[in-house]
Amino acid sequence: MRLKNVPGSREAVVQSEYVVQETEPKKGCWTEVFGNANPIHIEIGMGKGRFISDLAKLNPGINYVGIEKYSSVLIRAIEKQEELMLPNLKFIRMDAENICDWFEKGEVDKIYLNFSDPWPKDRHAKRRLTSVQFLARYEKLLMPGHGLEFKTDNRDLFDFSLEQFDEAGWIKDYVTYDLHHSEYMEGNVMTEYEEKFSSMGNPICKVAAHF
Ligand code: SAM
Repeated sequence: MRLKNVPGSREAVVQSEYVVQETEPKKGCWTEVFGNANPIHIEIGMGKGRFISDLAKLNPGINYVGIEKYSSVLIRAIEKQEELMLPNLKFIRMDAENICDWFEKGEVDKIYLNFSDPWPKDRHAKRRLTSVQFLARYEKLLMPGHGLEFKTDNRDLFDFSLEQFDEAGWIKDYVTYDLHHSEYMEGNVMTEYEEKFSSMGNPICKVAAHF
């Protein structure tokens, strides 16, 4: 993803009431953050936040946390949330490598990964958000037996991910190589990248899996 620096975004992220900051109580404290004990769903690498904002609008009884590495991208999700003011949507600016510092075991009900960065070089495989290294991190946050949904148009990354689920002992609930022409399309919420790539004719792959 090509990144355009947005001047002032770093400061805006630090000041935003919708961003949970490094210095705030968080791990084990998410019921206080949201003021209720509703289930928590997170999207890692949410980009500009269209998918997670739409989900938060549709499902007021679920709390959503969008995670994004770059302030210049996160600022777009914050701007959207400043208009929507959804009480069940918060953001974190961080590299997901550190996700275990933010959630207690069992605090997360579900993880969404959408059009994650492919890291095509073999030596960077462990940076892929579906690598066994990341799956091990997710096991430390998710409620036992819960899992994730992953969408991408990148077939190499998708095939790699399916192998990683097997290696980690995760169970696949379903797999499709063409989501938009499958039975799993019902209720699908589009992401920004999904709209872009599907409009170019790329088939969208999706897997749901749990440990
Ligand atoms: N999920 C969005 C969508 O489907 O439209 C955005 C997809 S974009 C290709 C991937 C996003 O993930 C980028 O905004 C990138 O900055 C973010 N990202 C990649 N690796 C990350 C990491 N380790 N931690 C947090 N965010 C990450």
